[in-house]
Amino acid sequence: MNYSTKIAKIEESKTIAVSSKANRLIAKGENVISFGAGEPDFPTPEFIKKAAVEAMDKGYTGYTSVSGLPKLKKAAVKHFASNYSYKYSTNEVIVCNGGKQVLYNALSAISNPEDEILIPKPYWVSYTEIVKLAGAKPVLIETKTENKFKLSAAELKNSITANTKAIIINSPSNPDGHFYSKSEIRDLIEVIIDKDIFIISDEIYDKLLYDGQEFSSMIELFPELKERILIVNGMSKTYSMTGWRVGFGFGSKKWIDRMAKIQSHSTSNVNTIAQYASAKALENKELEEVINERREIYQARRDLTAELLSDIKGLEAIKPAGAFYFFINISELISKKINGQEIKGSLTFSDLLLEENKVAVVPGIAFGMDNYIRISFALSEDKIREGISRIADFVRELE
Ligand code: PLP
Repeated sequence: MNYSTKIAKIEESKTIAVSSKANRLIAKGENVISFGAGEPDFPTPEFIKKAAVEAMDKGYTGYTSVSGLPKLKKAAVKHFASNYSYKYSTNEVIVCNGGKQVLYNALSAISNPEDEILIPKPYWVSYTEIVKLAGAKPVLIETKTENKFKLSAAELKNSITANTKAIIINSPSNPDGHFYSKSEIRDLIEVIIDKDIFIISDEIYDKLLYDGQEFSSMIELFPELKERILIVNGMSKTYSMTGWRVGFGFGSKKWIDRMAKIQSHSTSNVNTIAQYASAKALENKELEEVINERREIYQARRDLTAELLSDIKGLEAIKPAGAFYFFINISELISKKINGQEIKGSLTFSDLLLEENKVAVVPGIAFGMDNYIRISFALSEDKIREGISRIADFVRELE
């Protein structure tokens, strides 16, 4: 049988592969510490769960408008305006199945076969594959460790061709937690300000920024580019709601309408109960308190992780400014051996670490950089201590 050649070119998510392998070991009763998953370990706040039950009790179980429940769209734009100095109208927002579907719809709405979508390295694992699914070409841009993996204006300029259609910016970032200051974003966008290039700003970790740093949304810095900017955000990371699948795309009506068209013939509206609960969540004053408390906990975990990692010879990591990941350089350990097995790159490193010392991490190759691994610090401090101590033992045993 002849299956799609487009789909044959899509890689399976490598982050999911590692966590599945770890889950198999856990199911067998092994004591695995998993730094793999990209999700909070906190439960969804109680008042959000209650709102879902209430929605079901009230019988809110039918379809909603494809682009989202009006009450949720209203809450989302109001919440956005209370965080950032920009007011979207309710026809400039779409509710999708997580940030992932926002990206898929947004890219599908603008892509033609020759189009190139710029993605700075390292990148979140799904960007390249979503671009391919949308029918465009991912073009990777190298960044420098010295610049904390932040794209410079010169690097951006050198990557633009006549086919450049859009750029994806992710700040705070997955996998390394870098964050662009206002002036860095301004310098960057100045390069494309006079060009017909769309900007997809993935701001899903906007509330997970540490050390009192303030996040500015791309749209408040460049309101004049509103036709070209699409903001990705959602409930998953900030509100510990990864499984609820509620994401938001904020952008021009033209772009949002096209995204809604795609959604209307693919998934239709996001789960109605999850939409009601999300609306209640965004309207609730308790929400900010929960986020602030959790942010402090994440910051303490980040500091602990940085301290523990700094004691391990052979591993190098930049302390992340936001999100909940460390992107760790393992170059010094490549070609070393454990029990006769050689570390050839991030895949063998992750595999051997899981097999030998029962620690799950994500190979950097999933983010475009094979000399790195990613660990999440959305884990209890005890687990972080135990897991990093096992990593230290593993590294010590390498010959
Ligand atoms: N963007 C980034 C950078 C992410 O790390 C993720 C999830 O890992 C997403 C988007 C999508 O999140 P979701 O689809 O759960 O909202």
